[in-house]
Amino acid sequence: MTKHVTHFIAGKRFDAVAERTGPIFDPATGAVTGAVDFATAGEVDIAVSAAREAFATWGSSPLPRRTRVMFAFREQLLARERELATLISSEHGKTVEDARGEIARGLEVVELACGIPQLLKGAFSEGVSTRVDTYSLRQALGVVCGITPFNFPAMVPMWMFPLAIACGNCFILKPSEKDPSASLLMAECLTDAGLPPGVFNVVHGDRGAVDALLEHPSVAAVSFVGSTPIARHIYETAARAGKRVQALGGAKNHMVVLPDADLDLAADAAVSAGFGSAGERCMAISVVVAVEPVADALVSRITERVVRLKVGPGTAAESEMGPLVTREHRDRVASYLDTAVAEGATLTVDGRAHAVDGDPGGFWLGPSLLDRVGADMTAYRDEIFGPVLLVLRVPSFAAALQVVNENPYGNGTAIFTSDGGAARQFQHEVQVGMVGINVPIPVPVAYYPFGGWKQSLFGDSHVYGTDGVHFYTRNKVVTSRWPESSQAGVRLGFPGTH
Ligand code: NAD
Repeated sequence: MTKHVTHFIAGKRFDAVAERTGPIFDPATGAVTGAVDFATAGEVDIAVSAAREAFATWGSSPLPRRTRVMFAFREQLLARERELATLISSEHGKTVEDARGEIARGLEVVELACGIPQLLKGAFSEGVSTRVDTYSLRQALGVVCGITPFNFPAMVPMWMFPLAIACGNCFILKPSEKDPSASLLMAECLTDAGLPPGVFNVVHGDRGAVDALLEHPSVAAVSFVGSTPIARHIYETAARAGKRVQALGGAKNHMVVLPDADLDLAADAAVSAGFGSAGERCMAISVVVAVEPVADALVSRITERVVRLKVGPGTAAESEMGPLVTREHRDRVASYLDTAVAEGATLTVDGRAHAVDGDPGGFWLGPSLLDRVGADMTAYRDEIFGPVLLVLRVPSFAAALQVVNENPYGNGTAIFTSDGGAARQFQHEVQVGMVGINVPIPVPVAYYPFGGWKQSLFGDSHVYGTDGVHFYTRNKVVTSRWPESSQAGVRLGFPGTH
Protein backbone atom coordinates (compact mmCIF):
# COMPACT_ATOMS: atom_id res chain seq x y z
CA MET A 1 0.00 0.00 0.00
CA THR A 2 1.48 3.33 -0.98
CA LYS A 3 0.54 6.61 0.69
CA HIS A 4 -1.33 9.46 -0.94
CA VAL A 5 -0.22 12.92 0.14
CA THR A 6 -2.51 15.80 -0.64
CA HIS A 7 -3.04 19.47 0.28
CA PHE A 8 -4.23 20.78 3.63
CA ILE A 9 -6.63 23.65 3.17
CA ALA A 10 -9.02 25.34 5.63
CA GLY A 11 -8.17 22.86 8.38
CA LYS A 12 -8.69 19.65 6.45
CA ARG A 13 -7.36 17.31 3.81
CA PHE A 14 -8.22 18.46 0.30
CA ASP A 15 -10.24 15.74 -1.38
CA ALA A 16 -10.35 16.54 -5.13
CA VAL A 17 -8.59 14.20 -7.59
CA ALA A 18 -5.26 15.68 -8.69
CA GLU A 19 -4.49 16.43 -12.34
CA ARG A 20 -0.80 15.70 -11.71
CA THR A 21 1.15 13.86 -9.01
CA GLY A 22 4.79 13.15 -8.23
CA PRO A 23 6.42 10.04 -6.75
CA ILE A 24 7.68 9.82 -3.16
CA PHE A 25 10.67 7.52 -2.66
CA ASP A 26 12.25 5.76 0.27
CA PRO A 27 15.87 6.74 -0.53
CA ALA A 28 17.20 3.81 1.52
CA THR A 29 15.54 1.22 -0.74
CA GLY A 30 14.78 3.15 -3.91
CA ALA A 31 11.13 2.03 -3.66
CA VAL A 32 8.25 4.33 -4.51
CA THR A 33 6.30 4.64 -1.27
CA GLY A 34 3.61 7.06 -2.33
CA ALA A 35 2.41 9.89 -4.53
CA VAL A 36 1.99 13.58 -3.83
CA ASP A 37 -0.64 15.74 -5.52
CA PHE A 38 0.56 18.77 -7.48
CA ALA A 39 -1.71 21.79 -7.04
CA THR A 40 -3.12 23.65 -10.02
CA ALA A 41 -3.43 27.44 -10.01
CA GLY A 42 -7.12 26.98 -9.18
CA GLU A 43 -6.30 24.86 -6.13
CA VAL A 44 -3.71 27.40 -4.99
CA ASP A 45 -6.45 30.02 -5.28
CA ILE A 46 -8.72 27.94 -3.02
CA ALA A 47 -5.94 27.83 -0.40
CA VAL A 48 -5.30 31.59 -0.67
CA SER A 49 -9.04 32.30 -0.33
CA ALA A 50 -9.22 30.13 2.79
CA ALA A 51 -6.25 31.99 4.24
CA ARG A 52 -7.74 35.38 3.37
CA GLU A 53 -11.00 34.47 5.04
CA ALA A 54 -9.20 33.24 8.17
CA PHE A 55 -7.16 36.46 8.32
CA ALA A 56 -10.33 38.48 8.94
CA THR A 57 -10.42 37.14 12.50
CA TRP A 58 -6.90 35.78 13.12
CA GLY A 59 -5.27 39.08 12.08
CA SER A 60 -7.00 40.90 14.92
CA SER A 61 -7.07 38.09 17.47
CA PRO A 62 -5.67 39.02 20.90
CA LEU A 63 -1.99 38.39 21.52
CA PRO A 64 -2.57 35.90 24.36
CA ARG A 65 -4.66 33.73 22.03
CA ARG A 66 -1.88 33.54 19.43
CA THR A 67 0.71 32.95 22.14
CA ARG A 68 -1.27 30.08 23.65
CA VAL A 69 -1.55 28.37 20.27
CA MET A 70 2.24 28.56 19.92
CA PHE A 71 2.80 27.09 23.39
CA ALA A 72 0.34 24.29 22.60
CA PHE A 73 1.97 23.68 19.20
CA ARG A 74 5.30 23.27 20.99
CA GLU A 75 3.76 20.60 23.23
CA GLN A 76 2.21 18.79 20.25
CA LEU A 77 5.52 18.76 18.40
CA LEU A 78 7.39 17.44 21.41
CA ALA A 79 4.82 14.68 21.86
CA ARG A 80 5.14 13.63 18.20
CA GLU A 81 8.84 14.37 17.76
CA ARG A 82 9.95 10.75 17.27
CA GLU A 83 7.11 10.12 14.78
CA LEU A 84 8.04 13.25 12.83
CA ALA A 85 11.76 12.36 12.81
CA THR A 86 11.03 8.85 11.51
CA LEU A 87 8.75 10.26 8.81
CA ILE A 88 11.45 12.71 7.70
CA SER A 89 14.04 9.91 7.58
CA SER A 90 11.72 7.72 5.47
CA GLU A 91 11.38 10.36 2.71
CA HIS A 92 14.65 12.30 2.97
CA GLY A 93 17.05 9.51 3.97
CA LYS A 94 18.84 11.33 6.80
CA THR A 95 19.33 9.50 10.08
CA VAL A 96 16.53 9.70 12.63
CA GLU A 97 18.94 11.35 15.08
CA ASP A 98 19.75 14.02 12.51
CA ALA A 99 16.04 14.56 11.86
CA ARG A 100 15.54 15.00 15.60
CA GLY A 101 18.23 17.68 15.46
CA GLU A 102 16.39 19.61 12.76
CA ILE A 103 13.15 19.43 14.77
CA ALA A 104 14.99 20.78 17.81
CA ARG A 105 16.28 23.75 15.80
CA GLY A 106 12.78 24.40 14.44
CA LEU A 107 11.38 24.24 17.96
CA GLU A 108 13.70 27.08 18.93
CA VAL A 109 11.80 29.34 16.53
CA VAL A 110 8.46 28.14 17.94
CA GLU A 111 9.78 29.07 21.38
CA LEU A 112 10.77 32.49 20.07
CA ALA A 113 7.24 32.89 18.67
CA CYS A 114 5.83 32.07 22.13
CA GLY A 115 7.26 35.46 23.16
CA ILE A 116 5.50 37.35 20.38
CA PRO A 117 3.85 39.95 22.68
CA GLN A 118 7.30 41.16 23.66
CA LEU A 119 8.60 41.05 20.08
CA LEU A 120 5.66 43.03 18.70
CA LYS A 121 5.89 45.88 21.19
CA GLY A 122 5.95 49.27 19.52
CA ALA A 123 7.35 52.60 20.67
CA PHE A 124 5.60 55.56 22.28
CA SER A 125 6.77 59.16 22.48
CA GLU A 126 4.74 61.40 24.70
CA GLY A 127 4.57 65.10 23.86
CA VAL A 128 6.16 65.28 20.41
CA SER A 129 4.29 68.60 20.20
CA THR A 130 1.80 70.34 22.48
CA ARG A 131 -0.68 67.65 23.58
CA VAL A 132 0.50 65.49 20.70
CA ASP A 133 1.82 61.93 21.15
CA THR A 134 3.33 59.58 18.57
CA TYR A 135 3.40 55.83 18.72
CA SER A 136 4.25 52.98 16.39
CA LEU A 137 2.80 49.51 16.00
CA ARG A 138 3.55 46.55 13.79
CA GLN A 139 0.65 44.92 11.95
CA ALA A 140 0.39 41.64 10.07
CA LEU A 141 0.62 41.66 6.27
CA GLY A 142 -2.28 39.26 5.55
CA VAL A 143 -1.65 36.10 3.52
CA VAL A 144 2.01 35.13 3.28
CA CYS A 145 3.65 32.04 1.84
CA GLY A 146 6.75 29.90 2.29
CA ILE A 147 8.39 27.76 -0.39
CA THR A 148 10.86 25.32 1.09
CA PRO A 149 13.60 22.86 0.03
CA PHE A 150 13.87 19.10 0.51
CA ASN A 151 16.80 19.10 2.88
CA PHE A 152 15.05 20.32 6.04
CA PRO A 153 11.35 19.46 5.61
CA ALA A 154 10.51 20.44 9.21
CA MET A 155 13.11 23.01 10.25
CA VAL A 156 13.01 25.36 7.27
CA PRO A 157 9.19 25.70 7.31
CA MET A 158 9.54 26.36 11.05
CA TRP A 159 11.99 29.17 10.28
CA MET A 160 8.97 30.84 8.74
CA PHE A 161 5.43 29.94 9.82
CA PRO A 162 5.64 30.16 13.65
CA LEU A 163 6.63 33.83 13.53
CA ALA A 164 4.38 34.62 10.56
CA ILE A 165 1.34 33.14 12.32
CA ALA A 166 2.19 34.57 15.74
CA CYS A 167 2.43 38.01 14.10
CA GLY A 168 -1.18 37.54 12.92
CA ASN A 169 -0.69 36.42 9.32
CA CYS A 170 -2.24 33.41 7.59
CA PHE A 171 0.27 31.11 5.97
CA ILE A 172 0.51 28.92 2.88
CA LEU A 173 3.37 26.42 2.84
CA LYS A 174 4.58 24.91 -0.42
CA PRO A 175 7.01 22.25 0.79
CA SER A 176 9.42 20.28 -1.36
CA GLU A 177 7.63 17.64 -3.43
CA LYS A 178 10.47 15.22 -2.56
CA ASP A 179 9.57 14.86 1.14
CA PRO A 180 6.12 16.40 1.55
CA SER A 181 4.71 14.46 4.54
CA ALA A 182 6.37 16.36 7.40
CA SER A 183 4.36 19.46 6.49
CA LEU A 184 1.10 17.59 7.04
CA LEU A 185 2.14 16.23 10.42
CA MET A 186 2.98 19.79 11.46
CA ALA A 187 -0.43 20.91 10.15
CA GLU A 188 -2.07 18.28 12.39
CA CYS A 189 -0.04 19.52 15.36
CA LEU A 190 -1.17 23.10 14.69
CA THR A 191 -4.81 22.01 14.42
CA ASP A 192 -4.55 20.03 17.65
CA ALA A 193 -2.96 23.10 19.24
CA GLY A 194 -6.16 25.03 18.53
CA LEU A 195 -5.14 27.00 15.44
CA PRO A 196 -8.33 28.02 13.58
CA PRO A 197 -8.91 26.52 10.10
CA GLY A 198 -7.35 28.48 7.24
CA VAL A 199 -4.55 30.09 9.27
CA PHE A 200 -2.06 27.44 8.13
CA ASN A 201 -2.47 25.71 4.77
CA VAL A 202 -0.26 23.41 2.73
CA VAL A 203 -0.27 23.18 -1.06
CA HIS A 204 1.99 20.63 -2.71
CA GLY A 205 3.51 20.79 -6.14
CA ASP A 206 6.31 22.01 -8.31
CA ARG A 207 6.87 25.11 -10.41
CA GLY A 208 3.17 25.39 -11.32
CA ALA A 209 2.07 25.75 -7.70
CA VAL A 210 4.93 28.15 -6.95
CA ASP A 211 4.16 30.40 -9.91
CA ALA A 212 0.49 30.52 -8.89
CA LEU A 213 1.55 31.77 -5.44
CA LEU A 214 3.99 34.31 -6.89
CA GLU A 215 1.32 35.71 -9.20
CA HIS A 216 -1.59 35.66 -6.75
CA PRO A 217 -2.70 39.22 -5.93
CA SER A 218 -3.72 38.28 -2.37
CA VAL A 219 -0.29 36.92 -1.39
CA ALA A 220 1.52 39.77 0.36
CA ALA A 221 4.91 38.22 1.04
CA VAL A 222 7.04 35.28 -0.07
CA SER A 223 9.72 33.51 1.94
CA PHE A 224 11.84 31.09 -0.09
CA VAL A 225 14.69 28.74 0.75
CA GLY A 226 16.29 26.63 -1.96
CA SER A 227 18.91 26.72 -4.71
CA THR A 228 20.36 29.96 -6.05
CA PRO A 229 18.86 29.92 -9.59
CA ILE A 230 15.35 29.36 -8.18
CA ALA A 231 15.92 31.90 -5.38
CA ARG A 232 16.80 34.52 -7.97
CA HIS A 233 13.71 33.63 -10.03
CA ILE A 234 11.49 33.86 -6.92
CA TYR A 235 13.02 37.18 -5.87
CA GLU A 236 12.64 38.79 -9.28
CA THR A 237 9.14 37.44 -9.98
CA ALA A 238 7.69 38.17 -6.55
CA ALA A 239 9.25 41.64 -6.38
CA ARG A 240 7.88 42.45 -9.84
CA ALA A 241 4.44 41.46 -8.58
CA GLY A 242 4.85 43.98 -5.74
CA LYS A 243 5.37 41.46 -2.96
CA ARG A 244 7.74 41.57 -0.05
CA VAL A 245 10.28 38.79 -0.64
CA GLN A 246 13.20 37.07 1.04
CA ALA A 247 14.85 34.32 -1.01
CA LEU A 248 17.67 32.28 0.50
CA GLY A 249 19.82 30.44 -2.01
CA GLY A 250 22.60 27.88 -2.25
CA ALA A 251 25.97 27.75 -0.59
CA LYS A 252 29.61 26.73 -0.75
CA ASN A 253 30.83 26.90 2.82
CA HIS A 254 34.55 27.11 3.48
CA MET A 255 36.33 26.02 6.64
CA VAL A 256 39.70 27.70 6.94
CA VAL A 257 42.27 25.80 9.03
CA LEU A 258 45.26 27.84 10.16
CA PRO A 259 48.58 26.17 11.03
CA ASP A 260 48.08 26.86 14.76
CA ALA A 261 44.72 25.03 14.93
CA ASP A 262 44.20 21.83 16.91
CA LEU A 263 44.24 19.49 13.90
CA ASP A 264 42.34 16.66 15.57
CA LEU A 265 39.52 19.00 16.52
CA ALA A 266 39.57 20.53 13.03
CA ALA A 267 39.43 17.09 11.38
CA ASP A 268 36.52 16.03 13.61
CA ALA A 269 34.69 19.24 12.72
CA ALA A 270 35.37 18.95 8.97
CA VAL A 271 34.07 15.37 8.84
CA SER A 272 31.01 16.07 11.02
CA ALA A 273 30.07 19.22 9.11
CA GLY A 274 30.97 17.83 5.69
CA PHE A 275 29.16 14.50 5.84
CA GLY A 276 26.32 15.00 8.34
CA SER A 277 23.02 14.55 6.48
CA ALA A 278 25.14 13.26 3.56
CA GLY A 279 26.31 16.81 2.89
CA GLU A 280 22.75 17.87 2.02
CA ARG A 281 22.79 20.85 4.37
CA CYS A 282 22.94 24.48 3.31
CA MET A 283 25.44 25.05 6.12
CA ALA A 284 27.50 21.90 5.42
CA ILE A 285 31.23 22.45 5.09
CA SER A 286 32.00 21.66 1.47
CA VAL A 287 35.51 23.10 1.19
CA VAL A 288 38.39 22.85 3.67
CA VAL A 289 40.94 25.58 3.04
CA ALA A 290 44.17 24.24 4.52
CA VAL A 291 46.77 26.92 5.18
CA GLU A 292 50.23 25.41 4.65
CA PRO A 293 52.17 23.73 6.08
CA VAL A 294 49.25 21.80 7.67
CA ALA A 295 47.55 20.30 4.59
CA ASP A 296 49.25 16.86 4.62
CA ALA A 297 48.67 16.37 8.35
CA LEU A 298 45.08 17.57 8.12
CA VAL A 299 44.19 15.48 5.06
CA SER A 300 45.53 12.32 6.68
CA ARG A 301 43.46 12.99 9.84
CA ILE A 302 40.32 13.66 7.78
CA THR A 303 40.91 10.52 5.70
CA GLU A 304 41.24 8.30 8.80
CA ARG A 305 37.86 9.51 9.99
CA VAL A 306 36.05 9.41 6.63
CA VAL A 307 36.86 5.77 5.86
CA ARG A 308 35.38 4.73 9.23
CA LEU A 309 31.97 6.40 8.71
CA LYS A 310 29.05 3.97 8.83
CA VAL A 311 26.71 4.38 5.88
CA GLY A 312 23.27 2.76 6.01
CA PRO A 313 19.53 3.40 6.34
CA GLY A 314 18.64 6.48 8.36
CA THR A 315 16.36 4.38 10.54
CA ALA A 316 19.19 2.05 11.67
CA ALA A 317 20.67 3.17 14.99
CA GLU A 318 24.26 2.46 13.91
CA SER A 319 24.10 4.51 10.66
CA GLU A 320 26.00 7.79 10.73
CA MET A 321 25.13 8.76 7.17
CA GLY A 322 22.12 7.82 5.07
CA PRO A 323 21.46 7.76 1.32
CA LEU A 324 20.97 10.77 -0.95
CA VAL A 325 17.48 12.06 -1.62
CA THR A 326 16.94 10.75 -5.18
CA ARG A 327 18.80 8.57 -7.65
CA GLU A 328 19.15 11.52 -10.02
CA HIS A 329 20.77 13.65 -7.31
CA ARG A 330 23.04 10.76 -6.26
CA ASP A 331 24.28 10.34 -9.84
CA ARG A 332 24.82 14.06 -10.28
CA VAL A 333 26.88 14.26 -7.08
CA ALA A 334 28.94 11.18 -8.05
CA SER A 335 29.69 12.68 -11.47
CA TYR A 336 31.76 15.42 -9.80
CA LEU A 337 34.29 12.81 -8.66
CA ASP A 338 35.21 11.98 -12.28
CA THR A 339 35.09 15.61 -13.40
CA ALA A 340 37.38 16.72 -10.59
CA VAL A 341 39.96 14.00 -11.31
CA ALA A 342 39.88 14.88 -15.01
CA GLU A 343 40.53 18.51 -14.07
CA GLY A 344 43.56 17.60 -11.88
CA ALA A 345 42.25 16.97 -8.34
CA THR A 346 43.33 13.95 -6.25
CA LEU A 347 40.54 11.56 -5.22
CA THR A 348 41.80 10.64 -1.76
CA VAL A 349 38.65 8.76 -0.71
CA ASP A 350 36.21 7.43 -3.32
CA GLY A 351 32.73 7.14 -1.80
CA ARG A 352 31.58 4.86 -4.61
CA ALA A 353 33.74 2.13 -3.06
CA HIS A 354 32.53 2.70 0.52
CA ALA A 355 30.81 -0.25 2.23
CA VAL A 356 27.08 0.31 2.66
CA ASP A 357 24.95 -1.65 5.08
CA GLY A 358 21.68 -1.29 3.21
CA ASP A 359 19.39 -2.30 0.35
CA PRO A 360 21.27 -2.25 -2.97
CA GLY A 361 18.38 -0.32 -4.54
CA GLY A 362 18.98 2.69 -2.25
CA PHE A 363 20.46 5.98 -3.46
CA TRP A 364 23.85 5.37 -1.85
CA LEU A 365 27.02 7.32 -2.20
CA GLY A 366 29.66 6.99 0.49
CA PRO A 367 31.71 9.95 1.74
CA SER A 368 34.38 11.20 -0.69
CA LEU A 369 37.42 13.42 -0.25
CA LEU A 370 38.95 15.41 -3.09
CA ASP A 371 42.36 16.93 -2.36
CA ARG A 372 44.42 19.52 -4.28
CA VAL A 373 41.30 21.10 -5.74
CA GLY A 374 41.74 24.38 -7.63
CA ALA A 375 39.34 27.32 -7.53
CA ASP A 376 38.87 27.03 -11.30
CA MET A 377 37.60 23.41 -11.15
CA THR A 378 33.94 22.55 -11.73
CA ALA A 379 33.68 20.71 -8.41
CA TYR A 380 34.72 23.92 -6.65
CA ARG A 381 32.58 26.31 -8.69
CA ASP A 382 29.31 24.33 -8.46
CA GLU A 383 27.30 23.63 -5.35
CA ILE A 384 27.56 19.80 -5.16
CA PHE A 385 25.19 19.34 -2.17
CA GLY A 386 26.32 15.82 -1.33
CA PRO A 387 28.95 13.87 0.62
CA VAL A 388 31.97 15.24 -1.23
CA LEU A 389 34.48 17.29 0.74
CA LEU A 390 37.06 19.35 -1.16
CA VAL A 391 40.46 20.43 0.12
CA LEU A 392 42.11 23.56 -1.24
CA ARG A 393 45.71 24.14 -0.21
CA VAL A 394 46.76 27.79 0.18
CA PRO A 395 50.04 29.38 1.30
CA SER A 396 48.76 31.98 3.80
CA PHE A 397 45.90 33.41 5.86
CA ALA A 398 45.55 36.23 3.31
CA ALA A 399 45.20 33.72 0.47
CA ALA A 400 42.57 31.76 2.43
CA LEU A 401 40.53 34.89 3.08
CA GLN A 402 40.77 35.81 -0.60
CA VAL A 403 39.44 32.39 -1.65
CA VAL A 404 36.42 32.71 0.63
CA ASN A 405 35.70 36.29 -0.40
CA GLU A 406 36.00 35.62 -4.14
CA ASN A 407 33.47 32.77 -3.98
CA PRO A 408 30.07 33.93 -5.25
CA TYR A 409 28.24 32.30 -2.33
CA GLY A 410 28.32 33.71 1.17
CA ASN A 411 26.13 31.58 3.42
CA GLY A 412 28.38 30.23 6.16
CA THR A 413 32.09 29.92 6.86
CA ALA A 414 34.35 28.87 9.72
CA ILE A 415 37.89 29.44 10.86
CA PHE A 416 39.83 27.00 13.05
CA THR A 417 42.71 28.62 14.91
CA SER A 418 44.09 29.28 18.38
CA ASP A 419 45.00 32.87 17.42
CA GLY A 420 42.34 35.32 18.63
CA GLY A 421 43.74 38.13 16.49
CA ALA A 422 43.51 36.08 13.29
CA ALA A 423 39.99 34.98 14.18
CA ARG A 424 38.92 38.56 14.80
CA GLN A 425 40.41 39.75 11.52
CA PHE A 426 38.64 36.90 9.72
CA GLN A 427 35.23 37.65 11.21
CA HIS A 428 35.64 41.33 10.33
CA GLU A 429 36.87 40.96 6.76
CA VAL A 430 35.07 37.86 5.52
CA GLN A 431 32.20 38.51 3.09
CA VAL A 432 29.84 35.88 4.48
CA GLY A 433 26.62 36.16 6.50
CA MET A 434 27.28 33.54 9.21
CA VAL A 435 30.73 32.98 10.67
CA GLY A 436 31.98 30.26 13.01
CA ILE A 437 35.13 30.58 15.09
CA ASN A 438 36.14 27.00 15.92
CA VAL A 439 32.46 26.19 15.18
CA PRO A 440 31.96 24.48 11.81
CA ILE A 441 28.20 24.99 11.34
CA PRO A 442 27.41 28.42 12.76
CA VAL A 443 23.60 28.30 12.44
CA PRO A 444 22.43 31.16 14.66
CA VAL A 445 20.10 30.49 17.59
CA ALA A 446 16.50 31.59 16.97
CA TYR A 447 16.86 35.02 18.57
CA TYR A 448 19.53 36.00 16.03
CA PRO A 449 18.65 36.06 12.33
CA PHE A 450 19.79 33.42 9.81
CA GLY A 451 20.93 34.46 6.36
CA GLY A 452 23.79 34.55 3.91
CA TRP A 453 25.36 37.22 1.73
CA LYS A 454 26.02 37.49 -2.01
CA GLN A 455 24.36 34.70 -4.09
CA SER A 456 23.11 33.00 -0.92
CA LEU A 457 20.35 35.52 -0.24
CA PHE A 458 18.21 37.79 -2.39
CA GLY A 459 16.37 40.48 -0.47
CA ASP A 460 17.37 42.46 2.57
CA SER A 461 15.80 40.47 5.38
CA HIS A 462 17.23 37.35 6.98
CA VAL A 463 14.89 34.71 8.44
CA TYR A 464 13.73 34.40 12.06
CA GLY A 465 14.99 36.53 14.96
CA THR A 466 13.75 40.11 14.89
CA ASP A 467 14.31 40.09 11.10
CA GLY A 468 11.51 37.51 10.88
CA VAL A 469 9.14 39.65 12.94
CA HIS A 470 9.88 42.67 10.76
CA PHE A 471 9.50 40.68 7.56
CA TYR A 472 6.01 39.47 8.52
CA THR A 473 4.72 42.83 9.78
CA ARG A 474 4.63 46.43 8.67
CA ASN A 475 5.04 49.54 10.69
CA LYS A 476 2.23 51.95 11.38
CA VAL A 477 3.05 55.23 13.10
CA VAL A 478 0.20 57.14 14.73
CA THR A 479 0.31 60.81 15.63
CA SER A 480 -2.46 61.64 18.05
CA ARG A 481 -3.83 64.86 19.50
CA TRP A 482 -6.73 65.39 21.86
CA PRO A 483 -7.20 69.17 21.41
CA GLU A 484 -8.73 71.67 23.74
CA SER A 485 -11.21 74.13 22.23
CA SER A 486 -8.64 76.98 22.58
CA GLN A 487 -6.49 75.22 19.92
CA ALA A 488 -9.22 75.46 17.25
CA GLY A 489 -8.58 77.37 14.01
CA VAL A 490 -7.42 76.84 10.43
CA ARG A 491 -3.61 76.95 9.91
CA LEU A 492 -2.18 76.26 6.46
CA GLY A 493 1.46 76.19 7.54
CA PHE A 494 3.33 72.87 7.64
CA PRO A 495 2.66 71.22 11.02
CA GLY A 496 5.51 72.10 13.36
CA THR A 497 6.48 70.73 16.73
CA HIS A 498 5.41 73.50 19.12
P1 NAD B 1 15.25 23.74 -5.13
O1 NAD B 1 15.65 25.14 -5.42
O2 NAD B 1 15.31 22.74 -6.23
O3 NAD B 1 13.73 23.70 -4.59
C1 NAD B 1 13.30 24.54 -3.55
C2 NAD B 1 11.80 24.76 -3.69
O4 NAD B 1 11.55 25.42 -4.94
C3 NAD B 1 10.99 23.48 -3.70
O5 NAD B 1 9.80 23.69 -2.98
C4 NAD B 1 10.70 23.25 -5.18
O6 NAD B 1 9.48 22.58 -5.41
C5 NAD B 1 10.63 24.66 -5.72
N1 NAD B 1 11.07 24.75 -7.12
C6 NAD B 1 11.95 23.94 -7.77
N2 NAD B 1 12.10 24.35 -9.04
C7 NAD B 1 11.32 25.43 -9.21
C8 NAD B 1 11.06 26.31 -10.31
N3 NAD B 1 11.64 26.15 -11.49
N4 NAD B 1 10.20 27.33 -10.12
C9 NAD B 1 9.61 27.52 -8.92
N5 NAD B 1 9.82 26.72 -7.85
C10 NAD B 1 10.66 25.70 -7.98
O7 NAD B 1 16.12 23.27 -3.87
P2 NAD B 1 16.21 21.81 -3.23
O8 NAD B 1 16.97 20.92 -4.14
O9 NAD B 1 14.88 21.39 -2.72
O10 NAD B 1 17.10 22.15 -1.93
C11 NAD B 1 18.50 22.22 -1.96
C12 NAD B 1 18.98 23.64 -2.18
O11 NAD B 1 18.47 24.49 -1.15
C13 NAD B 1 20.48 23.77 -2.10
O12 NAD B 1 20.90 24.65 -3.09
C14 NAD B 1 20.72 24.36 -0.71
O13 NAD B 1 21.92 25.08 -0.56
C15 NAD B 1 19.54 25.26 -0.58
N6 NAD B 1 19.26 25.57 0.79
C16 NAD B 1 19.60 26.81 1.24
C17 NAD B 1 19.37 27.15 2.55
C18 NAD B 1 19.76 28.50 3.07
O14 NAD B 1 19.49 28.76 4.21
N7 NAD B 1 20.37 29.37 2.30
C19 NAD B 1 18.77 26.23 3.42
C20 NAD B 1 18.42 24.98 2.93
C21 NAD B 1 18.66 24.66 1.60
